[in-house]
Amino acid sequence: MLQTSIAGSLPRPDWLAEPETLKGAWKLSGQALEDGKRKAAADWLRHQEDAGIQIVTNGEVFRTHFVHGFLEGLTGIDWQQMTRMGIRNNRYELDVPTVVGPLSRPAAVHLDEVRFSRAQTKAQFKFTLPGPMTICDTIADGYYGSRPKMALAFADILNAEAKELEAAGVDVIQFDEPAFNVFMTEVKDWGIEALHRAIDGLKCTTAVHICYGYGIQANLDWKKSLGSEWRQYEEIFPALNGSRIDQISLECAGSNVPLSLLRLLPDKQLMVGAIQVTGDRVESPAEVVATLRAAAEHVELERILPCTNCGMAPIAYDAALGKLQALGAGAELLRQGRRS
Ligand code: ZN
Repeated sequence: MLQTSIAGSLPRPDWLAEPETLKGAWKLSGQALEDGKRKAAADWLRHQEDAGIQIVTNGEVFRTHFVHGFLEGLTGIDWQQMTRMGIRNNRYELDVPTVVGPLSRPAAVHLDEVRFSRAQTKAQFKFTLPGPMTICDTIADGYYGSRPKMALAFADILNAEAKELEAAGVDVIQFDEPAFNVFMTEVKDWGIEALHRAIDGLKCTTAVHICYGYGIQANLDWKKSLGSEWRQYEEIFPALNGSRIDQISLECAGSNVPLSLLRLLPDKQLMVGAIQVTGDRVESPAEVVATLRAAAEHVELERILPCTNCGMAPIAYDAALGKLQALGAGAELLRQGRRS
């Protein structure tokens, strides 16, 4: 019960990449970079196991950005033709590459890192991929002419990738869809359909992560504008509950999401975010317990997987380590409380 997991990313160590920023540049190159990524992943896998995290990831330390890391392996994208684009309904701007022709995946993108990571641990291993809608909100379209059409093209490619990763021993494949909290109508119109294409034929556990974004300033400012009750989830949960995705990863710690909304997902396993990813303050295990208990007022404990709100890539390494330990310790406290 209360199997612990994390949303996905962890900080890349400062000897490997520019720390505490999104898309921090690599500090190594060539074989040293490849070896460095592997060492960083192995370290995080061990840290997660030591902290009592039961469904582990490789911290996404092989990529600079959770979307572009996958796109770099595809053809049909022009990386010289960078387009300045408003992201997440113009919450912030980013220079993004442009789709200039039919998309294809000449070879598996993440297979090597998955094989390496899988061999490092006996724990359940989760791998994260960007969701089709979020990809389409993080790249410019100079070819398909419609977002739903481009999303389905990406979904087919994600599906081929996911099947290879599943065959390499991945237990959980998670699609990251922060855009689901922004384009709520589109989620119902084509977002979930695209996800279904992406998971088609998979036998492993499938998950979708829907958050209010990394703890970067643009997201913090946006959150301030959302008022005292964040009800974005309310619009999409009924459709998600009807979907074929097994697990939903949600932001619950320190957020203004009314936890009663979790009642709209009666048929899903819920990764309840009990760790904030804004700033470096490390929660106490008691705070983790309090967040999980608050969620448990609306959801049976059996359906809760204690988790982080979002990825921890942009925060300090030691803070992320402390947060892993707090999450593992908090979940264990709650388990013990149930047994005694
Ligand atoms: Zn997130």
